[in-house]
Amino acid sequence: TSIFAAVEMAPRDPILGLNEAFNADTRATKVNLGVGVYYDDNGKIPLLAAVKAAEKARLEAMPPRGYQPIEGPAIYGQAVQNLLFGAGSELTESGRVVTAQALGGTGALRIGADFLHRMNPNATVYISDPSWENHRALFEAAGFKVENYPYYDPTTRGVNFAAMKAFLLGLEAGSIIVLHACCHNPTGADLSDAQWGEVVEACRERGLVPFLDMAYQGFAEGIDQDAVAVNLFSASGLQFFVSSSFSKSFSLYGERVGALSIVTASKEEAGRVMSQLKRVIRTNYSNPQIHGGAIVAAVLSSPELRQQWEDELAGMRDRIRAMRSGLVEQLKAKGVEQDFSFVIKQRGMFSYTGLSAAQVEQLKNDFGIYAVSTGRICLAALNSKNIGYVAEAIAAVVK
Ligand code: PLP
Repeated sequence: TSIFAAVEMAPRDPILGLNEAFNADTRATKVNLGVGVYYDDNGKIPLLAAVKAAEKARLEAMPPRGYQPIEGPAIYGQAVQNLLFGAGSELTESGRVVTAQALGGTGALRIGADFLHRMNPNATVYISDPSWENHRALFEAAGFKVENYPYYDPTTRGVNFAAMKAFLLGLEAGSIIVLHACCHNPTGADLSDAQWGEVVEACRERGLVPFLDMAYQGFAEGIDQDAVAVNLFSASGLQFFVSSSFSKSFSLYGERVGALSIVTASKEEAGRVMSQLKRVIRTNYSNPQIHGGAIVAAVLSSPELRQQWEDELAGMRDRIRAMRSGLVEQLKAKGVEQDFSFVIKQRGMFSYTGLSAAQVEQLKNDFGIYAVSTGRICLAALNSKNIGYVAEAIAAVVK
């Protein structure tokens, strides 16, 4: 018999399964709202002009392809730290932060998880209820027990902050708490600045290990505004983790560009932490790939390209916002009585629409519109051509 005879079929990834069903659908009017990708108004994944310029310069220079340092090049780490903590901040100047290039936000979370597991394998990881679907699987794969903390409240379509805070204040010291730094996926409901301040204090009081997941910096209000949680943790003097993803903000999904930053208590501690993080990386994939990181570093360290990138990022942010208000308007125009104005207040690429699994099923069957069964839709998949059709379909299923 085969050595694989006992291998069972793993469950399908729900979102990738949705993409397969979408691709197989032959209706010309079909729309895929299930993805977590930014599309432009023509329904295409953009190649940003700033990225194109950096890429062209790099190809012309034809640099050799040696191994990178295990943690990636210093210029990349510096660029990431400037984005998160601000250029020349006390924190980065003090040498207390270590940053390693990672294979996307997912890779950053994973090396962080592996490092944490070596430090304290018995800690429990807490993720928001609900959270990005890979958080649980990823931390479980690293060996942790994973539980939920209260987060979304479907009745207010916001955060049940009282429940969240009470829960955090009841946790054991050393518990790892995964927080969406901005643009919560899947709900689009974020904490207010004041609430972030309270979360920081709860982490201090209980001795929790905060792990901020920053996958959408720049998609809510702007680069600096979206770093408010990072700034509050920085100012607190606490130690914490931040995973960054440039998949969305640079539209570099397949290049796998991200970073893990760890804020420590001293420069000396930072050295020890980095030495262990390098061991984790070395035994996983040895060192990161060059191209995507080189492009991001080049854009972020050139004043002209950085400005161009910020303008392009603002363009993506504004287009998503326009789709939010456009959808709400069109639903109203189609005679929908239910108030959908909450869609405008949600931040980032996603909205928890409140559509039931049955309504989502009906959208698929009757209209070829694909959404996640939880009712999550990606606003960045709407455009001026399909928004009317989508509004009409939603109007039909909610009536
Ligand atoms: N974290 C969250 C909350 C995300 O939504 C995503 C991507 O969808 C990631 C992390 C992973 O990002 P990447 O594609 O860079 O691995």
